[in-house]
Amino acid sequence: MPKAIKPSASLAETLVAWQKVHGRNHLPWQNTRDPYRVWLSEIMLQQTQVSTVLAYYAKFLENFPTVADLAAASQDKVMGLWSGLGYYSRARNLHQCAKEVVSRFGGEFPSTAEDLITLPGIGRSTAAAVASFCFSERVAIMDGNVKRVLTRVWGFADDLSVAKNEKVLWQMAQEALPTRQLQTAMPRYSQAIMDLGATVCLPRKPHCDECPVQTQCKAYALGEPEKFPVKTRKLKRSSEVLWLMLAQNAQGEVWLEKRPASGIWASLYSLPVFDSEEAMQASLTPSLQKASVAGTLKWDVLPAFKHVLTHKDLHCHVVKLKAAKGAPVLSEGAWWSEKEWTSLGLPQPVRHLLSSSL
Ligand code: SF4
Repeated sequence: MPKAIKPSASLAETLVAWQKVHGRNHLPWQNTRDPYRVWLSEIMLQQTQVSTVLAYYAKFLENFPTVADLAAASQDKVMGLWSGLGYYSRARNLHQCAKEVVSRFGGEFPSTAEDLITLPGIGRSTAAAVASFCFSERVAIMDGNVKRVLTRVWGFADDLSVAKNEKVLWQMAQEALPTRQLQTAMPRYSQAIMDLGATVCLPRKPHCDECPVQTQCKAYALGEPEKFPVKTRKLKRSSEVLWLMLAQNAQGEVWLEKRPASGIWASLYSLPVFDSEEAMQASLTPSLQKASVAGTLKWDVLPAFKHVLTHKDLHCHVVKLKAAKGAPVLSEGAWWSEKEWTSLGLPQPVRHLLSSSL
């Protein structure tokens, strides 16, 4: 335990003192109170590790130095720069949010969690993060790291998959926030509790011996920190079969179409997607259908693979076909050269297929 921390200090005081010395203080989105930068990092860090986010964060700021620049960008440019980060609904909401900050708030992010939460893609915890980091609002964040730390410290054993229990934890978290010197204590406390969850109070094998709140921690006293948080309901998973058409012409270009605005891989560019091989064949242009019937169309079914999304397993079958000339293969879509498709927003498995199969 750092010497500066009094054993009798509150949880908030202890964490604030610990963060100054032991927390993460040099990430590019720290040491700023610019809500645009904080918000951008918060959205990118949802479901993505810090090490991956670093390069994307820098690339976005280089291309869109302000929220107005992001709002004015084309959707294709935003999706292209996001490509590879996954969870593309975040990018669509990010873009929409920037537009609304400009249209509804004159280009300035609102300063309260209550107003921030009205923007697309900003949930209660993200609103609290921006409000506490940038405006020192006394409001509690509650991401996975924070839930883990707090349920362990308090020995909170109620099932967090039940909404009313999570509400109780959130209320307790709100009451545990700093009560003094909020201007500096609130951003520091929000960062501290995130840092503790990310670096010390790990899901497995937490480093309790290095923990500043060990003496206050019920889960540690019980000798079973890994039992918390309690969450019994698992995500319901589904699965879907997709047939992807990987068509290439004599110039080496590939045929891509833009996905609809909703559904799987929404608004991204993709290899054409079908429910079945028959549906794929039936969608070919008349001349290619004739070639298919005549047996002159080169039609190779590649080995199938599984792509795992949060809620769903995608069982992907791929048909590779060679189109002799630059004529269309389907009524929707276009030919794209390698130089062009590498900068498009593509689903990760499609990008991988194009990189490995051409
Ligand atoms: Fe987590 Fe261990 Fe610290 Fe408790 S003592 S908060 S379980 S790291």
